[in-house]
Amino acid sequence: MSWPFLDDDRDASPVITHEVRAKTGDGALHDMLIRLEIYGALEGLAARWAAERGISALQLGAVQDCLKSIDDLIQVSKLSTGSLAQFLVLNARFHGLVMEAVQCRTLSQYAEKPPQSFFAHPWAYQIWASDPKKLHAALIIEQDQHHGIIEAIQNGMGARAENLVREHFLLGRRQLLGSAEQQAPRQV
Ligand SMILES: [Zn+2]
Repeated sequence: MSWPFLDDDRDASPVITHEVRAKTGDGALHDMLIRLEIYGALEGLAARWAAERGISALQLGAVQDCLKSIDDLIQVSKLSTGSLAQFLVLNARFHGLVMEAVQCRTLSQYAEKPPQSFFAHPWAYQIWASDPKKLHAALIIEQDQHHGIIEAIQNGMGARAENLVREHFLLGRRQLLGSAEQQAPRQV
């Protein structure tokens, strides 16, 4: 069975230029964009359900500990060389906790293989790691969105929680495309 909108990368990623696609290779960028979008939809659903049904004090404690670790990591005047790698571990933990918060086995099964963060894509990682100031600014925005998602869940605001998760993943999509545009000329 064919899925015209997902299989046709012109429809799924209209802002990827032919030049970028040619220089970034074999569809890996396209695949990552699709995976981010699907996972964002699933995590958005998890956040909405968690807000509507409530989450346990234990789950809330775990996610707040994780947020605190990210706060500590980025509340410095200058990021260290290992900051991005540390962030990627904590970020994956945060998103895993949001997905688990609703305790829906079926949803967890669909979301079994989360995509890498856009920061972790091989050429995006290089760009971010080489520009600590830009990385720091991006991580502050990321973390602000994390806090917003958890606040919405805590306050029982399901639609807001879902929208914030979707927005978070859309930001990732924009950042990834920006990295692709930057990286493409270097591979000529
Ligand atoms: Zn995140």
